[in-house]
Amino acid sequence: MRVLITGGAGFLGSHLSDRFLAEGHTVVAMDNLITGNVRNIAHLAGNPNFLFVKQDVTNYIYLSGDLDAILHFASPASPIDYLKFPIQTLKVGALGTHNALGLALAKKAKFFLASTSEIYGDPLVHPQREDYVGNVDTIGPRGVYDEAKRYAEALTMAYHRYHGVDTRIVRIFNTYGPRMRLEDGRVVPNFVAQALRHEPLTVYGGSQTRSFQYVSDLVEGIYRLLASDYNDPVNIGNPHEMTIAEFAAVVNEVVGNPAGITYQNDQRIKGDPQTRQPDITRAREILNWEPKVQLREGLQKTVEYFRQVL
Ligand code: UDP
Repeated sequence: MRVLITGGAGFLGSHLSDRFLAEGHTVVAMDNLITGNVRNIAHLAGNPNFLFVKQDVTNYIYLSGDLDAILHFASPASPIDYLKFPIQTLKVGALGTHNALGLALAKKAKFFLASTSEIYGDPLVHPQREDYVGNVDTIGPRGVYDEAKRYAEALTMAYHRYHGVDTRIVRIFNTYGPRMRLEDGRVVPNFVAQALRHEPLTVYGGSQTRSFQYVSDLVEGIYRLLASDYNDPVNIGNPHEMTIAEFAAVVNEVVGNPAGITYQNDQRIKGDPQTRQPDITRAREILNWEPKVQLREGLQKTVEYFRQVL
């Protein structure tokens, strides 16, 4: 296959590029580098099966040659980033998705949308199944991301139903691993960097829950979903749920940080979901997929990466 990965220089896009190349495919990675970084794909320079194109997908996308699949992963993805780039976040979910779908239609390529657990908002149903329609504050600070992704899902289904484009939608739950940006403000890079510096971990609130999956588990789920013929959304995430305070304790233990934690409740962004856990029944049944990497094992690998970056 020849695949286009938008956001190809980002955390997930770069890991996907690695996986598709390892499977013998050809990869075109596209990125405007507002949150992506060429460092993430520097090891692929010179690979004849890999091409990087610096382009903003919210503008018209031109690409010569055949394409078999488009994986649309371009988007700011951390709360700090979408507070900093609210308009770009909305544009890449709306215009970027439209352009990528238009290209898929023109090239007769499969289209794969990176959606998110954020479409469930601050969920009133727990754990979250794919048929739960969500609880999103449209005008809250996270609304720019949540609504962009909800629109992207609607547009994807419209292209599937109206134009017959062969589409996939993955709803990604909290994912961590090497190549996350140190300064993206998410809990994993924040805590790991603080622990490595032997500083107290900044816990905002603490009783809210998340369920963390290691990046290689996500990539496997995405690869299987693309190969399937399933068009409805599929949750891919690790159901192992814990409070942020518990998570902080695990990070401190893995890194060996004696500094403990500090509560900074005023830093918590309005609308921060109180609970989040994927129901992965659908992924189990349709893709025969489930996460394999244990939290401490994934954290070790992530810590090694951040040790080098710091
Ligand atoms: N959080 C925290 N300390 C930090 C960064 C984040 O306690 O230094 C909390 C944040 O308020 C949220 C959770 O950790 O409840 C996960 O935040 P993240 O930004 O990683 O992603 P989210 O799941 O909210 O999209």
